[in-house]
Amino acid sequence: MYRTHTCGELTIGDAGKEVILSGWLQRSRDLGGMTFIDLRDRYGITQLVFNMDTNSELCEKARKLGREYVIQAWGKVRERSNKNPRIPTGEIEIEVERLEVLNRSEVPPFTIEDNTDGGEELRMKYRYLDLRRNIVKSNLILRHKVAREVRKYLDSEGFVEIETPFLIKSTPEGARDFVVPSRMQPGTFYALPQSPQTLKQLLMVAGFDRYFQIVKCFRDEDLRADRQPEFTQIDCEMSFVERDDVLETFEGLAKYLFREIKGIKFTETFKRMPYSEAMERYGTDKPDLRFEMRITELTDLVKGRGFQAFDSAGYVGAICAKGCSDYSRKQLDELTEFVKKPQIGARGLVYVKYGSDGLKSSVDKFYSGGDLEKWVKITGAEQGDLILILAGEKNKTLYALSELRLEMANRLGLRKKDVFVPLWVVDFPLLEWDEEEGRFFAMHHPFTSPKPEDISLLETDPAKVRANAYDLVINGTEIGGGSIRIHDTSIQKLMFKVLGFSEEEAERQFGFLLGAFRYGAPPHGGIAFGFDRWVALFGGQDSIRDFIAFPKNNSGRDLMLDTPSEISEKQLKELKLKINLED
Ligand code: ASP
Repeated sequence: MYRTHTCGELTIGDAGKEVILSGWLQRSRDLGGMTFIDLRDRYGITQLVFNMDTNSELCEKARKLGREYVIQAWGKVRERSNKNPRIPTGEIEIEVERLEVLNRSEVPPFTIEDNTDGGEELRMKYRYLDLRRNIVKSNLILRHKVAREVRKYLDSEGFVEIETPFLIKSTPEGARDFVVPSRMQPGTFYALPQSPQTLKQLLMVAGFDRYFQIVKCFRDEDLRADRQPEFTQIDCEMSFVERDDVLETFEGLAKYLFREIKGIKFTETFKRMPYSEAMERYGTDKPDLRFEMRITELTDLVKGRGFQAFDSAGYVGAICAKGCSDYSRKQLDELTEFVKKPQIGARGLVYVKYGSDGLKSSVDKFYSGGDLEKWVKITGAEQGDLILILAGEKNKTLYALSELRLEMANRLGLRKKDVFVPLWVVDFPLLEWDEEEGRFFAMHHPFTSPKPEDISLLETDPAKVRANAYDLVINGTEIGGGSIRIHDTSIQKLMFKVLGFSEEEAERQFGFLLGAFRYGAPPHGGIAFGFDRWVALFGGQDSIRDFIAFPKNNSGRDLMLDTPSEISEKQLKELKLKINLED
């Protein structure tokens, strides 16, 4: 028997018991005649003690052990004289009578502590050691709990978990596909699913009515902190539903998870906001509503006073930062630098300080006190506030304002990790125009239904058509998104046409779906949640990486497996593939 107990469970009530423990040597200390070892396993840490006076041979043996050795210890639980109130086992120690080394370990490349000395790269390379650290380990346990609760809730609501294949057909859905060459049909390829979108719709045609799957999705995109080339979705679909049925069902899931995982009860219905309002007021389709700080448009108010930056701008907008009128030159310069960063893209920043000595702005040369008072009124600024104004092309300026809004909220401490404000963003545009390609793209995906009242616009004014689509946004993060789908072949065909597909092309790429729709597709709709993101949000972190057991780095590499990597000549031959790295 390797153990009678884990390293996390013995307490003062166990004093006097003979026990066996197994685990990793976290740390050892020699203090005069005594040697102490912290023995660690998944469940915690227990102190082992060896006494030179009573058993010098055993004590010598213990002193030779290195960090991360796997050991087994037999001994008696006793009360500690020097208690550690910070850990559950801190009141006891094991007086060791026998010790076995189950395995040796090389000195680990970084310390297995909450505050490790290992850099990101090193920790990724030795991820199995990183996973021994409490912080990362508890993230994965949190992930497991969330998955378990998701299954519990959806099962109780009648959802059936069904697996869909990973080797599927390349279908453009926004991102680039990862592809897998076929050996049996050389020259052809499978694609890994960007999501099981079309497959779950086929399950609705099949009559499953309520489907879900916690499923890997693959997208060959440029990476950011909250993106991985493979990530996990809670993918769901329902039949005979309208938008509000879907929102209610999954608001239920969100509330259940918050209650079970975070102990937070939401008693009110989540707020809903049309996309157009989110953009106008917050400059983004995923506003962080933990704080207000709305954007106010000033375009018409500021024109015609000879200030070139405003006169030539398509849009001028402002936010009002509460209590910041005493911002120093240096702080304002920092903000100017911030908005001028290439990722934010503003040309400059105009401010109005509403201090105790009245209004003072960076454009006093062009605008009178009366002008500034109008700005104060419309932005709702009060004495003590700072108005920050950006100007330029409308969408770019709204984006820059949305980033400035987040920056100010960070500075003001308004983005508290333990406050959660969920929001449904609804009525997205169905299509977005792509300048480069000179055609429309589906904003969500090509299977999303237009709002019924907008269908007639599809052929006359496609840009105006609103989608029956929705996103769940929590604290400025898009946690999930979905839509009511098109279930009518003729509308689906029209949609493909608006997206620039010829009839043959639509048939070639989506024939399977159009074919299925001929056999009685029910009205249906669904949603998919970013599982990694949701867990990271519960875990209070922005990056999803530490909530994934074996993640990839920013260049899409797995540093531990050292991949992507070349394959053998033999494999290439079998696949009848030739590598030609020149364009
Ligand atoms: N398949 C969609 C996505 O991955 C979600 C959905 O519409 O259900 O974004």
